[in-house]
Amino acid sequence: MASNHPSFRDSVDRMFTHAASLMKLPPGLEEKIRVCNSTYTVRFGVRLRGAIHTFTGYRSVHSEHMEPVKGGIRYAMSVNQDEVEALAALMTYKCALVEVPFGGSKGGLRINPRDWDEDELERITRRFTYELSRRSLISPSQNVPAPDMGTGEREMAWMADAYKRLHPDDINAKACVTGKPVTIGGILGRVEATGRGVQYAIREFFRHPEALKRTGIEGELSGKRIVVQGLGNVGYHAAKFLQEEDGCVIVTVVEYNGTVHNPDGLDIEALKDHIRETGGVENFPGASFRPAGLEGLEDDCDILIPAAVESVITEKNAGKIKAKLIIEAANGPTTSEGDKILKDRGIVVIPDMYANAGGVTVSYFEWVKNLSQISLGRLERRHEEARNRLLVSEIERLSADSGVKWTLSEGFKSAYLHGADELELVRSGLDDTMRESYMKMQEVWFGDDRVDDLRTAAYVVAIRRITNVYGSLGL
Ligand code: GLU
Repeated sequence: MASNHPSFRDSVDRMFTHAASLMKLPPGLEEKIRVCNSTYTVRFGVRLRGAIHTFTGYRSVHSEHMEPVKGGIRYAMSVNQDEVEALAALMTYKCALVEVPFGGSKGGLRINPRDWDEDELERITRRFTYELSRRSLISPSQNVPAPDMGTGEREMAWMADAYKRLHPDDINAKACVTGKPVTIGGILGRVEATGRGVQYAIREFFRHPEALKRTGIEGELSGKRIVVQGLGNVGYHAAKFLQEEDGCVIVTVVEYNGTVHNPDGLDIEALKDHIRETGGVENFPGASFRPAGLEGLEDDCDILIPAAVESVITEKNAGKIKAKLIIEAANGPTTSEGDKILKDRGIVVIPDMYANAGGVTVSYFEWVKNLSQISLGRLERRHEEARNRLLVSEIERLSADSGVKWTLSEGFKSAYLHGADELELVRSGLDDTMRESYMKMQEVWFGDDRVDDLRTAAYVVAIRRITNVYGSLGL
């Protein structure tokens, strides 16, 4: 790649290096944290439709300063080594920022899920799981995958089942992946978690007048005009909650096969139904339509939410974006060059590693629930309080054992101790996490003159925490 067009991974590394340069790190540690520990590439054949088809998959482990390492598995034709490594690095920083005690990892399979039927996808997924398992790249204590683009509960269920068959004696088998259906050990609220986290992040930002002032946005969240790119799991939930619960107006939705716009607002639920029925956004009643392209990101609005893929805000369009606030629901939507232009223009970016951390936060709750061997559904109401006490002390024990201070927030704890239902617990735990992590970022953003954006602040907080772990490991 030409040096003026950094790859995704270069882009992440540049942002990391910028933040690290503001810190006094022990010699050599910056590089140790930045580099990806290992990336496994596998090519395997599956007999389908009378022929053997070869698939290429990856699982990259960025940092094992905490174990297990954690991160999703993506199914897309664009998957490649550079991408999984960049995404794995972001997982390390994300987990550190929101204090989820995991290292960073990411996986991917180069496949277009739309090309295969369900049975075929199941066979491919089971075979991929087998390949990962042989290398301990799926394991409750070492490496715990989750959904990402192109995968969801269904794929996680296949992976969990395949893992269990390969490891019949592993009593923690359920915890080998998160994002499972609730019926087989998943947790309520995981599907909506990333979008819900985006909503909580925006709400938190709007609670801080000094922060809002830096955007030039005035007034409350209600009525703010939003452009959303991507109506997949993350974009759909974020847009839906912001519209239905916060009174925001979704003026534009940019999808991969077209853009729809309505200055009075698009009904997200109706639009999602329309996509399900017709396969795209075209002909959505009351909306103007533009063919596939990214121009919609430049539409007039207050807030832009890129919620699809990486590298969509670049040096080419960053100068034309009209939003005053960008919240990165996707991983890596802004390149380092695009980021610089946005910064120069005074556009505030709430960075990916914070904005989309809701998914892995709730994954952590699911993982703990699985390890605790607690079958929530089968316990009677009157046992709930005792069970919740047990779970709280179990989480605290796990935190203590990991050698790092990781305490439950008071909101989460009290929700547990007062017998709230699972969905309430998950949401309150997520809300606490988003609020506390925001405050940590803002402290650095406002407290250090050399830190002129939230992304750098997020990196500083994350790098500090990772450095502390290395310190306690004696490295
Ligand atoms: N794929 C999601 C992310 O990028 C979730 C990862 C997880 O839950 O482990 O954060």
